[in-house]
Amino acid sequence: MPNHLQPSEITYTRDRVAQILNEARYIPPNPNSNDTSLPIELYVEHSKINTRFQLGDIKKVQLEAASKRYREYCDIISKATPANHLEQLDTAYSKLLECHFQPRDIDATIDGACHKLARLPEVPPSLGNRWTQESISKLDDEYFVNQAHKTWDNLKVVRYVDKNIIRIALRIEIADAQWSGIFAFYINTISSLLSAALELSSVRRPYVLVLQAFLWTSWQRALMLHFSDGLNHQIKLGYDHEQNEFLAVDIVPAIQRELRVGSNRPDVPGYMCKWAFKLLNSDRAAVGLDFRAFIERYEETLGILPPRCIVSTGGDRLQCEGTSPESCTRFKGMKIEDQSAHSSSCSGSGGCKRLFWNEQSYRGQTGARAVTIEDGDHEQLDYRTASSSTMTVSHVWSHGQGGRPENHGTGMNSCLHERYIEIARQFGCDSYWMDTPCIPQDHQLRREAIQHMNSVFATSKLTLVCDRDLMLIDVSNPSTELYESLLSVLLVCD
Ligand SMILES: [Zn+2]
Ligand SMILES: [Zn+2]
Repeated sequence: MPNHLQPSEITYTRDRVAQILNEARYIPPNPNSNDTSLPIELYVEHSKINTRFQLGDIKKVQLEAASKRYREYCDIISKATPANHLEQLDTAYSKLLECHFQPRDIDATIDGACHKLARLPEVPPSLGNRWTQESISKLDDEYFVNQAHKTWDNLKVVRYVDKNIIRIALRIEIADAQWSGIFAFYINTISSLLSAALELSSVRRPYVLVLQAFLWTSWQRALMLHFSDGLNHQIKLGYDHEQNEFLAVDIVPAIQRELRVGSNRPDVPGYMCKWAFKLLNSDRAAVGLDFRAFIERYEETLGILPPRCIVSTGGDRLQCEGTSPESCTRFKGMKIEDQSAHSSSCSGSGGCKRLFWNEQSYRGQTGARAVTIEDGDHEQLDYRTASSSTMTVSHVWSHGQGGRPENHGTGMNSCLHERYIEIARQFGCDSYWMDTPCIPQDHQLRREAIQHMNSVFATSKLTLVCDRDLMLIDVSNPSTELYESLLSVLLVCD
C-alpha cells in the first residue's frame, strides 16, 4: 500500500501550513465588522475565480503562455544551485495562485488541512517511462532527500508539498462543502504547464527532470484533492450531475501518453476484470487519479480468487484483455439459464418453497408495487404501493435472482424472500422492491412497472446492493481498511 503523506521537514509541517494560512488571511475593509463568513477569494494567474463560475467564462491558459511560464521556471531552476532549487522554484510557482481566506477557526482549519494532506499518497506514480533510474541516479546529490538512494521516491521535488497544494487543502477546509469545482481551472492551468514541460524539453538537462517531476507531483496532488473535495460534497449534499463538468479536467495529450504506460498502468489482480477496470480508470471524471491503493486493497481482499472473465469449455478460467466488452463474457455472451438462486445462507437442499405472486394483490395496487413484508403466510408474494418506506434491491441478473413472479415463471425461493424481509425490517421498511418479483411479464403491467423504476429507487429508504463479491467480505469489524476494501470491490463488481 503506498504510504500516506506524513508531516515532516521534507514534506510539510503544521507550522508551515499555519504560516501559509496566515499569509493568505483576508482582512475585511471594516475591521469592526463581525462578519466572519466568506469571502474566500482565489486568483489563478491573476484571474479572479469566483465561488460560482462557469468553466467557459474563463479563457484557458494558452499553450503559448504556458510555454513562456515554463521557460521562466527553467531559467529559475537552471540558475539556482541544487541546494536551493526547491525554495526558488516554489516561490516562483506559488505566484500562480493567490488566496484571500477568512477562516472561522484557525486551529481547526490548520488541523483539517493537515488531515487532508495526510490522506494523500506520499509520492505520486513516477514518470518512469520518461526517465530511467540511470538518468535519475546521475542527478546531483542535493536533489535527493536520501543521497544513498537516488530514486524517484527520494527526489526532494517529489516529496515536498508545494505551497499551492497547501493552499488548496486550506481552501477546501475553509469552504467546507461549498464545492464549486473551483480548482478545475487551476488544475487545467497546471496541465498546460506540465504539457509544456513534457513537450518542449528535448534537451535533457538535469533540471528538466527535476522540473517535470515537480509539476507532475503538484498536478497529481491537486487532482486528488479536487476529486476528494467533489466526492465529499456529493456525500454531504447529494449527487448533482451538473457538478460533473468540474470533474472533467483537461487531460492534455502529453499527460495521456504518460498515463498509458509504465507505473501508471499497473497490473490488476487476476480476479479483477480488466475491462471493468478500464471503464473505471478511463472515465472522464477519474483520468489521472492514482489507483495504486485501490488495486492493492482489491488484491488483499479478493486477490486469491481465480480469474472469472472467461471460462473455457475445458474449465480454464481466464482474465479478459480489457480491450473491449466483446473480449469478456461478463459483458457479452454470458448465459444464465437457471434463475432460481437461494439465499447465501441456504444450501438449497432444504425445503425452500418457490413463491409466486398474488396476482389479485398486485393488480389491486396502483403506481409502483413493492413486495409487502407484513406478516402473512408467506405462501405468496403480496404487494403494496412503493413509498419512502420501501427498500430497493439492486442485484445482478447473472447471479440468478431473475425469476419472474407469475405462476408459470420461475418465481422466487422463500429463503431469498425471507432474507430480504429480515433486512428490510432491520431498517424500518414495510416493503421491498426488486425487479424480479415486481416487474411481471404481462406487457401492460411490465411497461407500467418500468416507468416507475427510477422514482422507486430515488424515493426508497435505502438500496440494498446485492453482489456476490461484496458478500464475500467479512464486515463484522468495521475499519477504514474495510471500507476501502468494500469500495474497491464495489467499483469493479458484476
Ligand atoms: Zn473481464
Ligand atoms: Zn433456499
